[in-house]
This record gives sequence, structure tokens and C-alpha cells, in this order.
Amino acid sequence: MKPFLIVASLAAVLAFAELAPTGKDNSVVKEPRVWICLGPSAYAHHVNRQCRGLNQCSRAIISTTRDSAINYYDREQPCRMKACN
Ligand SMILES: [Zn+2]
Repeated sequence: MKPFLIVASLAAVLAFAELAPTGKDNSVVKEPRVWICLGPSAYAHHVNRQCRGLNQCSRAIISTTRDSAINYYDREQPCRMKACN
């Protein structure tokens, strides 16, 4: 093999290694998720799905990001029950 070809193939291998995903940066950033009640009198978001506050919910209970619980659903307050946190 000619020296040029060796260098060229080595460079190709290195370039490929540079582009190959390492796996380190592929992890999805996890947003904090909360539970909210869609009932008309609900006002808080819950960290714990088993919270007693959610037991009183008369409508659907959904899981969403804390951001959308606060900004979209107006469940600004974190639940005050001790067992919820
Ligand atoms: Zn709660």
C-alpha cells in the first residue's frame, strides 16, 4: 500500500469516529413532570400521583410537565400535602 493511501484511510477512519455518536449527548433532558386534576376547582399541581388531593378529583387526572401545568393549565401552586413531595 502506498503511504498516501494509508494516510488517507487513516484520516477517513478518524473523520468517521468524529461523526459517530458517542451516546453521551443523546440523553434526553428530563423535564420535571407533575400530575394535575382537570376539575374546575383544582388549583395545584402534584408531584405524587398517589396524593390524596388527587383522590378528590372529579375529572380526569393527567401527567404533564411542570411548565405547562403552571402556564397552560393555571395550576400554579405546588400541592401543600406533605405526602405529595
Ligand atoms: Zn398533592
